Amino acid sequence: EEHRIVEHRIPNDAIKIVRLPAERGRLVHQYGQNGFRLYGLPTPVEGRVVGLLGPNGVGKSTALRVLAGLLKPNLGASDGAEWDAIVRAFRGTGVQRYLEDLRDGDLRAAYKPQRVDRLPGRYEGTVGDLLEARDERGSRATAVERLELGGLLGRRTDELSGGELQRVAIAATLVADADAYLLDEPSSYLDVGQRLTVARALSPLAGARRVLVVDHDLVTLDVACDDVDVVYGDPGGFGVVSRPLSARRGINQFLTGYLRSENVRIREDAVDFLRRPGRRVSDEEPVVEFSPLAASFPSFSLRTEAGAVRRGEVLGIFGRNGLGKTTFAKLLAGAIEPDDGEVAGDVRVSYKPQHVEPSYDGTIRELFEEAVGDRGRAFETGVRRPFDLEPLLDRDVGRLSGGELQRVGVALALARRADMYLLDEPSAYLDVDGRTSLATHLRAFVEEGAPCLVIDHDLLLLHYVSDRAMVFEGTPGERGIARSPESVRRGTNRFLKTVDVTFRRDPNTGRPRANDPGSRKDREQKRSGDYYVA
Ligand code: ADP
Ligand code: ADP
Ligand code: MG
Ligand code: MG
Repeated sequence: EEHRIVEHRIPNDAIKIVRLPAERGRLVHQYGQNGFRLYGLPTPVEGRVVGLLGPNGVGKSTALRVLAGLLKPNLGASDGAEWDAIVRAFRGTGVQRYLEDLRDGDLRAAYKPQRVDRLPGRYEGTVGDLLEARDERGSRATAVERLELGGLLGRRTDELSGGELQRVAIAATLVADADAYLLDEPSSYLDVGQRLTVARALSPLAGARRVLVVDHDLVTLDVACDDVDVVYGDPGGFGVVSRPLSARRGINQFLTGYLRSENVRIREDAVDFLRRPGRRVSDEEPVVEFSPLAASFPSFSLRTEAGAVRRGEVLGIFGRNGLGKTTFAKLLAGAIEPDDGEVAGDVRVSYKPQHVEPSYDGTIRELFEEAVGDRGRAFETGVRRPFDLEPLLDRDVGRLSGGELQRVGVALALARRADMYLLDEPSAYLDVDGRTSLATHLRAFVEEGAPCLVIDHDLLLLHYVSDRAMVFEGTPGERGIARSPESVRRGTNRFLKTVDVTFRRDPNTGRPRANDPGSRKDREQKRSGDYYVA
C-alpha cells in the first residue's frame, strides 16, 4: 500500500523551534519575572469545536483560563495590563471580538478545569441535583442522554469514580447558558467508548456556541474537532499558539513535526506510532499461565478464558471501564486470590497501579534508591535515560505534575527486578511526546525478555505497542468476560465492535482516523469486519 507522506517534507529554511525568536506573535501573559511566557491565543469560533494540541507545559491551560475570564493577561507587564490594551494587542485577529465581549461583560464562558478530582468537595447532593442546579437552558435531558449519564443521576457526586466524575463535570459545563465552552483535558479517566461518546456529543450540545478543547488523545480530538490549533514551544519556558488549521491538518502537522503555515519545525522527528510495524508473534515459552479464572465482589464478577503471557511480549489489555481489567492484573500479580481457577508460574511481578499516589516523602533520587537500590548501568540505560528522569531527580515526589508523576511511576515499575511487568493505564496525563517515548521504550524493554502487560485507553498507543491483545467484554460495573489473548488484529476488531467505531488510514501520514458513523467507509468496514485498517 502506497502513501504519499507529503507533510513529512521539511524545507531547509524551516525555523527550528530551539532557535525560535521569542517575539513570534503577541506576548499574552508572563508568570513572574523570568517565568513562562504565552504568545498568542486560540480562536474560539461560533458553531465550531476547536482543539488545542501541544505538549505539557506550553500554556494550554493558561490560554483556556484567559479565555474563561479567570486570568487577566498582563501582556508581559509586571504591573498588569488594561483591558483596552489587551484588546488592542489582538486587533485584526479572530480573538479581538471575543476579548471585547469579555471586557464588556457580554460574554459568558463555562469552563471545565483540568483536574476533576478536585471537584467533588464543591458540590453536595446527587448528580441529578447538580445537573438541575446547573441547567440554565433546559438542555440537561439531552446532555444526560448524549453523555450516557442516565445511570448516574441518583449517585452522590462525592462517590463517583474518576471517569464518572469527568463525564458529570463535562455535562455540568455544557448545560450552562454560555457563549463559549472551554474543556481542559476531558478524556482523562475515560475509556475509548466514553471518549468517543464525549467527542461526538460536543458539537450537538453546543449548537451555535463556541467550544474549545485541550486534549492529548488524538482520537478524541480527531472526532470532536472542526479545527485544531497547535501549541508549541519550550515546555516551562514559552508557548506559541499556531494559526487555526483544519482538525486533520492540525493533527497531521503536529505529528510530523512541521507547521507549514508558520514554517516552523516543532520537533526533531515525526511521531512514530502512526503505523504499526509487522511483528512476529512470539512462540517463546509462557512466563505465566492461567486457567479460566473467576473473581467476584459483592456487585461485580469477572470470568476469564484461559491464557498465557509469553516471554518478550507486550500483551495489550483492551476494554471499557468497569470490566475487571485492574482486577485481572491483581489476580496475575497475586494481590488477590481467584474464587476459581489458578495462576501458574512462580514469578515476581512488578506493578504500576492505575493511580500513582504521590505519597512518598522525599525526592525522586531517594525514592529510587530506597525502592530499587543501586542497579548500576542497567538502570541508567534502561530506565533513567529513556524516561528522562535526570531533571526530576532532586525534586520532591509530592511536587510533581501529573505527567511527571506518571513517568516516575512507570520508570519505578520497570526499574524493579521482576519476571513480568504490569502497567495499569500508563498514558494517563502524558502528552503525545510522552506517549511516543513510552511506546518506544516499552518495545525496547520487552526485548530483554520479561513480558509486559499494558492496560490503556489510548487506542493508537495500545495498538502500536502490543504484540498480542486481550479483550474484556461484558456489562461495565456488573460482569466482565476476558477473552484469551489473540492477535492484535483480531483483538482490535473484537474490541472496536464493542464500542462501535471503525478506523481508516489518513492518506498523508498513515495515521488511523475514526470514520464518521454511518459513512460509506464505516458501513463497508463493518460489513467486512475490518474495524481497524492496520
Ligand atoms: P499546559 O496546560 O500546556 O501543560 P500550563 O498553562 O498549565 O501548561 O502551564 C504553562 C507553564 O506555566 C508551566 O511551566 C507552568 O509551570 C507555568 N504556570 C502555570 N500556572 C502558573 C502560575 N499560576 N504561576 C506561575 N507559573 C505558572
Ligand atoms: P477496570 O479496571 O476494567 O475499570 P476494575 O477491575 O477496576 O475494572 O473494577 C471492576 C468492577 O469491580 C467495578 O465495578 C469496581 O467497582 C468493582 N471492584 C473493584 N475492586 C473492588 C473491591 N475491592 N471491592 C468491591 N468492588 C470492587
Ligand atoms: Mg494543562
Ligand atoms: Mg482499571
